[in-house]
Amino acid sequence: MKCEICGEEVKHPRVISVEGSVLRVCEKCAKYGVLLRVGSPRHTRKYKAREQETLEVVDDYSKLVHDKREALGLTQEELGRRINEPESVISRLETGKMVPSEGISRKLEKALGLSLLTKPSGGDVKLPVRPKEEPTLGDLALLKKRKKH
Ligand SMILES: [Zn+2]
Repeated sequence: MKCEICGEEVKHPRVISVEGSVLRVCEKCAKYGVLLRVGSPRHTRKYKAREQETLEVVDDYSKLVHDKREALGLTQEELGRRINEPESVISRLETGKMVPSEGISRKLEKALGLSLLTKPSGGDVKLPVRPKEEPTLGDLALLKKRKKH
């Protein structure tokens, strides 16, 4: 993962608390907050493994399913029967009202010969989204500058 302050790759992140925000940072940046704990290597490995298994459904799944079903000459009901889901599920998928679960995606991939699941691009750790107005990051940037000279 990457340090949430300086962005450097860090194998064993320190978990620190900065003005109420919990950050995972490298050894060098740990001094900017109160150290809560040191991430254990075992925890890191587990986390990584789970992450690699995570698959995302492609953005244009609704169009892909719709077009392929039509190309195969299937009705929504017929496709539903093939994957053991009600017609309403197919309808909602094709109109983009419902994102298929991994299980449904796999069944659709089999039934239609499509590729609907993809690995998240880049493999970067998704960081929790922080509110833009949060003052902490600005403060930290100042701290970093001062330390760097
Ligand atoms: Zn750092």
